[in-house]
Amino acid sequence: MPRVLLLLPTTTYRTQSFVEAAQRLGVDVTIGSEKPNTFTNLNPTALLALDFDDPAHASCQVAEFAAKHPIDAVVPVDSQVVAVGAAICELLDLRHNSVESIARAENKHRMRQVFEQTGVPSPEFRLCSLDDDRSVLANGIEYPCVIKPLALSGSQGVIRVDTAEEFIQAVGRLETILNNEYKNHAVSPSSGACQATRTVGAVTETSRQFLAERFVGGPEVALEGMLSRGKLCTLALFDKPDPLNGPFFEETIYVTPSRLSEDVQKTIAQCAGQAARALSLTEGPIHAELRLGKDGPSVIEVNPRSIGGLCSRALQFGTGMSLEELIIRHALEEDFELPKRQPQATGVMMIPTARAGRFIEVRGLAEAKMVSGIKDVTISAHLGQRLVPLPEGSLYLGFIFAGAESPEAVEAALRESHAQLEFVIEPLGEHGFERGGEGNVGDTDDDGQHGLEGAIR
Ligand code: ADP
Ligand code: CA
Repeated sequence: MPRVLLLLPTTTYRTQSFVEAAQRLGVDVTIGSEKPNTFTNLNPTALLALDFDDPAHASCQVAEFAAKHPIDAVVPVDSQVVAVGAAICELLDLRHNSVESIARAENKHRMRQVFEQTGVPSPEFRLCSLDDDRSVLANGIEYPCVIKPLALSGSQGVIRVDTAEEFIQAVGRLETILNNEYKNHAVSPSSGACQATRTVGAVTETSRQFLAERFVGGPEVALEGMLSRGKLCTLALFDKPDPLNGPFFEETIYVTPSRLSEDVQKTIAQCAGQAARALSLTEGPIHAELRLGKDGPSVIEVNPRSIGGLCSRALQFGTGMSLEELIIRHALEEDFELPKRQPQATGVMMIPTARAGRFIEVRGLAEAKMVSGIKDVTISAHLGQRLVPLPEGSLYLGFIFAGAESPEAVEAALRESHAQLEFVIEPLGEHGFERGGEGNVGDTDDDGQHGLEGAIR
């Protein structure tokens, strides 16, 4: 039986979906995660503790394991592990994106540079540093603009500003976010025969620099796609019907199929393909975000991973295949023919954190689930958890899933279901937020895992 190595950071939401997918496909699974686990001793081929922060070291660890238990595919389940996944595949000579292409896609400045050089339509940008004179910067920029960190996600630290004064304020806010995010990221020394690949320079770059980009208005879409030998196949195109005008950019509703015209959808797919090619991404899932400005589509970013959180549950393929099954099969089978998305209109709402405080209670859950067209409502925040809204935090309280006869009906069902929910959030004292990064997407359970152990049992 083929063996797949799933790279599952302990903070991921995707454990259950990927492990279930592997089980349904009947393949042997090894789970690579950061921490040694009690199950390692019981079944030494099931779990592998890997140093995700040091791709070269992790690759050596996997190569050693693979010498005894050959690995046929490596699947990094989300963004924290795509770089280490590419390094492992390169050493094991498995099909995947090159390490260089991932490095380009993971740094928003490098991605913008590549797009500019290759003519991919994307916002004009300027690289700035927290150490620059902010008044000089503010006066040299056109408004409205968006400032953003180079290597965070979930819209954390992404802020629209309309004036020089707002720019200076927002940069101050971004500085606090970056200081909090990077204060615990000490650079790990080289370990053993493998060299640490994270350098002091790279950390300084992502912790002190940021982009100022031209704000592109207009509707936003997300394209879920699969690359095979550089060719992009669209798995689903999602409309994001809530206007994203800032100042912060909460993702809320995703609905597919898109209500845009066939022509526009085609242009979007071409543009996403051009962007993936420009980055030299060639294999595996991508999640691309584009805005449809007055001059046509503009690529916000292309992530070399599938859709985040629990959102993939809104998608079904062929005769009931999940996105995770499709990703594993693509990684294992050279000539896997991608099945089509099931035609029903579906959607998901990521429930945003409305305000800061301690999460006490959710009311109206039963009513929210009973709304016609609603398939499920999952609250993923924990009772008692401290919540931090955007732009400092990036937590979503949970996910609402819907399926109906049309995209309009899906959107209406999601909104009606959300309206039934009431989140009781208790204000915290002034010392409540000593850790700014707390409450991010992917926060772990108390035991530090998102059901990893339960899923393997
Ligand atoms: P992240 O990696 O945190 O998701 P993004 O660059 O994708 O960062 O930005 C998050 C969201 O902010 C986007 O989905 C989009 O809605 C908005 N956004 C980012 N950059 C721009 C821009 N230049 N113009 C308009 N909206 C933008
Ligand atoms: Ca994004």
